[in-house]
Amino acid sequence: MGVLLKIFIPLLGLALAFYFYSAPKNFSEEMLRGKRVIVTGASSGIGEQMAYHLARMEAHLLLTARTEAKLQKVVEQCLKLGAASAHYVSGSMEDTVFPEVVVKEAENTWGGLDMLILNHIGYTYFNYFNGDVGHIRKLLEINFLSYVAMTTSALPMLKESEGSIVVVSSMAGKTGTPFSAPYSATKFALDGFFSSLRQEFIIDKVNISVTLCILGYIDTENAVRVVSHAMRDTPAPKEECALEIIKSGALRRRELHYPSQAVGSLLLLRDIAPDFLDSLIRSNYKVENIRR
Ligand code: NAP
Repeated sequence: MGVLLKIFIPLLGLALAFYFYSAPKNFSEEMLRGKRVIVTGASSGIGEQMAYHLARMEAHLLLTARTEAKLQKVVEQCLKLGAASAHYVSGSMEDTVFPEVVVKEAENTWGGLDMLILNHIGYTYFNYFNGDVGHIRKLLEINFLSYVAMTTSALPMLKESEGSIVVVSSMAGKTGTPFSAPYSATKFALDGFFSSLRQEFIIDKVNISVTLCILGYIDTENAVRVVSHAMRDTPAPKEECALEIIKSGALRRRELHYPSQAVGSLLLLRDIAPDFLDSLIRSNYKVENIRR
């Protein structure tokens, strides 16, 4: 009993300290007013919705994706919604110089940066792994290495502003999900790199927050088109998801789990019953609808 208490009391102390240290502060939209924010993958889906929320909050916006015509429309809408300023740079993150070009644009326009939201993803297939190693290499360039390159270029400005890095990831970046091996690999890589960077920032007393967003199935046009025939889940709304990502970044949280209950409980299972979690995940797929 005495031994148990000796273990339990420090653990309880640690848990309480952790709770108070990480207790959520309140979010207010003013936190984003006048802030200089880059959003990647902002021509559609969650990125587009983040741009609209940030515009309503009166942030300065630099948006990027490949499709210029779509970005033009999003920028116009952002200005109508109240953005302090909004512009875009179009290009592909497959091009290894493009990440730096985007960050340079922010530097030339604003002379600084407060928040870097890394959200874009390249096209991939939703099916059994097809053995194409070249595809994984290309996807790593778009979904992972360009995130690293943008972060590297943005570090001096983020150090100066004591800003935030927000990395949009997925349940597929935390646990095994079938039919998404290349995508999943790129998302796991993000966790490894950015969680290590967070540790180094703390050791180095660099006041830049790193928020990793672990998302479940969200109702963006592309996601629904690609996976809905094989998913039993109902997707969560992209508008709410986008707002939760911005809130988590502004509050400098370590991780966002959205939708919180579903993702939170699955992640808990991952550590205590991984085989059970795997079988739960498999049961969520209509495997008969996946054609090789
Ligand atoms: P989406 O609608 O497909 O948007 C992807 C964005 O990336 C678009 O703006 C696209 O614009 C851009 N993009 C594509 N290829 C690019 C390239 N080579 N270079 C630069 N930009 C490129 O995606 P989403 O569903 O909103 O997902 C957003 C984020 O949430 C992603 O990180 C994704 O992994 C994560 N997530 C989504 C779900 C979901 O169910 N939707 C679930 C978990 C995690 P262009 O085509 O114009 O370039």
